[in-house]
Formats: sequence, C-alpha cells, structure tokens
Amino acid sequence: MNDDTRQAGLRPSTLLVHAGTERTPYGETSEAMFLTSGFVYDDAEQAEATFLGQVEHYQYSRFGNPTVAALERRLAVLEGAEACRATATGMAAVHAALLCHLKAGDRLVASRALFGSCHWIVANLLPRYGIESVFVDGADLAAWEQALSVPTACVLLETPSNPMLDIVDLRAVCDLAHAAGAVVVVDNVFATPLLQHPLAFGADVVVYSCTKHIDGQGRVLGGAVLGTKAWIEGALQPFIRNTGPAISPFNAWVLLKGLETLALRVDAMTRSAMALADHLAQSPGIARVWYPGRADHPQSALAMRQMSAGGTLVTFEVEGGKPAAFRLMNALRLIAVSNNLGDSRSMVTHPATTTHMRIGPEERARLGITDGVIRLSVGLEDPRDIIDDLERGLARPDRLQAAE
Ligand SMILES: *Cc1c(COP(=O)(O)O)cnc(C)c1O
Repeated sequence: MNDDTRQAGLRPSTLLVHAGTERTPYGETSEAMFLTSGFVYDDAEQAEATFLGQVEHYQYSRFGNPTVAALERRLAVLEGAEACRATATGMAAVHAALLCHLKAGDRLVASRALFGSCHWIVANLLPRYGIESVFVDGADLAAWEQALSVPTACVLLETPSNPMLDIVDLRAVCDLAHAAGAVVVVDNVFATPLLQHPLAFGADVVVYSCTKHIDGQGRVLGGAVLGTKAWIEGALQPFIRNTGPAISPFNAWVLLKGLETLALRVDAMTRSAMALADHLAQSPGIARVWYPGRADHPQSALAMRQMSAGGTLVTFEVEGGKPAAFRLMNALRLIAVSNNLGDSRSMVTHPATTTHMRIGPEERARLGITDGVIRLSVGLEDPRDIIDDLERGLARPDRLQAAE
C-alpha cells in the first residue's frame, strides 16, 4: 500500500497501520529496517544518472533511506500533506523548518508561549543571523494583527501551548500571516496529528517532535516537517541534505511501530485526561485547572472548533505555591516526575523550576506560569489508578499519615 491510500478514503487508524509500506521481494510483514549508510549502483552510468536526477536511486542515508521514507510517507498521508521529511529530533525539525528559508533582513513573528528550545531559537539564534524576531501573546488577535502589519517572512506558533494550553486561532492568524507574505509554521506536538490538522486552517508547514506521542513509549527521539511538495523539495530538502539532521533508520522503524498504535493510545490518554481534569477541578487544594476539552477553558469554543478533543495534557495550579506543588509531586508513587510528555507512563513536571526556569520570573508571569502550576501528561494507566495517586499527593499530611 502506498500514497494511494489517501485517495482510497481510508480512515486515520487504518492509515496508521498501512500507509507508506513498501515491501521488498521477501514479502516481510513488518517494515524492513535498512540499517545502511550508503547504497551501491549497478555501474558508473547509473551513479551518474542518479546524481543528475535522471533516475530514482537511494544515494546516501543523509539524503534519504527506505525505512525513513516509509515513515515520511505514513506521516504525510496521516497529515494530509503532500510531502514530509523526518529528522533526528523535534528540535532539528523546527530548526530546519525555519533556517531553510529565512535569511538576513527577514522578520519572524512567533507566539510567546513556545516550547523552551523553540523560544531559544527565536529569541537568541535568529537575531544572531540578522533575522528580526518578534513575540506576541498567542491568544491576542489584535497583537498578531499589529505584528503582521509589515512584511514578514515567517510565523511560528504552537497550539495548544506548553504548559498553559493556550490556544491560537489558526485560521485568523494564517490569514493575517499570508497577507503579510509569511510562511506559517505550526508546532502541532500537543495536539498530535490526530486531534488537529493545521493545514486545513491555512498553515503552510507542520512540525512534530516524534519523540512525544508518535513514539509515545519513551524509546527514541525523532522529528518531522510536513508541507507542500514544492516547499519540502525546494526549500527544506537541500538544507537537510547538506546540514545533516538525518534520523537513524532504526529510530524511524521504531516510530513506524509507534504510529501503528497512535490512535489507540491518543484516544485512551485523551479520555483519561478529560476524566482527570474533571476530577481535579472539584478537588480541594486545586486552585485552577486548564484543559482545552473543558467548558471552563478560557478559549474552549475556539479549542473545540479546531481540535476534535482536548488532548492528553492537563495543567493545574495547587494552592500553596511551590512547597505545595513539590509536596504533591513527591508523594506520587505511580506518576513519574519527568519533563517528557505524550508517553504511555503518566508524568508530572513543575514548569517554573524546570522547563521554564530559564525564561525568568517576568516572562513566566506573562505566560501565567505560577509557582503552583503543575503539568500532567496523562499516560495509559487505568485512570482510577492515576486519580488515586494524585489523591495521595493532594492528601493533607495528617490524613496521609492516618492512612498509613
Ligand atoms: C518536545 C518538543 C519539541 C522538541 O522535540 P525534541 O524531540 O525533544 O527535540 C518541540 N516542540 C514541542 C511542543 C515539544 O513538546
């Protein structure tokens, strides 16, 4: 089965199992793993014709590899994108998606609530090369409108954002960005390719950290960039080919295995996340809960317009600031303290002292990241066990001691 699967009208969970598979003459069931750095030619003429682009032949795994290509085809079909390139990490994907087309004198506008390393690229790396970068509050359409009132080469945004799960209006921002001449790059990690389709709202390029839900089992790092064939082949491919953020074929194979169960995992984790958000919202000691699938999310109508469900992350604020947050996290026995997310194991992180420590207190305050905020990545455990573990964390010390 190949790219025709899209035309055949197959549904996402079917595509996740079948799309992109190309069997060797041995007829293997699973995707073959081509752990090879290079490829050989029948003769000198075939090598010449390959380099002239006259025949299709793999040349070198930095440029392309059959196992990596299977992953790229499957991701492209799932996203509804014309083309995809996989990379070694999510950050390699973001970096390549920006640097492959930006140049000195260009201007980039980004939502302020970005993954830490994406924030670093925009705030620190791009200005070094004479690229002007401007941050806006992603939820503030007037701010986008003002920032995009002058010619702009690129817009980078993340929705829902990490860790406060703010939503950016994809349609409205894409329209403003296109009027300013910008290529819109959307980091769709939190929504996953199943719950939100940025291309359908006008985005030009979608990036993933495959490390998160796509592997989703804590094994490998990976990334992907998706867009039109013209942009991927014209802008991205020469950059990737010559700068070398290639993914290992082994990791690509692991990610292909992860994709087979992505729909099952995201569906189960999302249902548990909704149940946990509802439970936390009525728990004493919890000041506030943010979950895009709940009616009390400040942008719930917008979230449900562009996402089919609220996703696998829940953010909440405990009463009592950092000491109370740490007390809760340290009382957990099942949920791991880890800054990873999208994993089959539930994880909590305290953004103010980890992922968002370096941005400083002022920027944290602007993003709403108080010292009581905890981000919960909901895993595949029985949701009743996750709730019991959180209850243990929420118990007052006297009650906890009584219980033991
Ligand atoms: C993890 C993550 C990245 C970076 O991906 P890596 O695979 O860790 O390099 C980028 N954006 C978001 C939203 C992420 O969660």
